[in-house]
Amino acid sequence: MQECIFCKIIDGKIPCKKLFENEHILAFDDIEPQAPTHVLIIPKKHISTINEIQFEDKNLIGEMFISAKEIVKIKGVQKQGYRTIFNTNEYAGQTVFHIHMHVMGGRRMSWPPG
Ligand code: 5GP
Ligand code: ZN
Repeated sequence: MQECIFCKIIDGKIPCKKLFENEHILAFDDIEPQAPTHVLIIPKKHISTINEIQFEDKNLIGEMFISAKEIVKIKGVQKQGYRTIFNTNEYAGQTVFHIHMHVMGGRRMSWPPG
């Protein structure tokens, strides 16, 4: 995906504050953090939205959650609590069309989200 900003980050064409990486997954700090901890976990495979996830992606999606578990340990927010969010399409406010899990913590959050 030539014009996808997260594919460019994966390729090293755009810098990021990397926190975790393996063959399938990359995790880095959000450029505009909305909480003291705000990490994005992305698959290296380009998938635009949750709507495009295939059955064969199930291990990859599972790995995103396993990575989240490691990230919250690194950030020290696992006990106090944190939020994991996928925004999909217009009504949810998705702006980057390469699936990503927001991992947010370090402050108390309200419910329901706006
Ligand atoms: P969405 O609105 O699609 O759920 O979330 C996209 C997120 O990507 C936003 O929180 C935004 O701040 C973040 N973001 C957009 N461009 C960049 C970038 O170039 N680098 C990093 N680290 N985060 C980005
Ligand atoms: Zn992409």
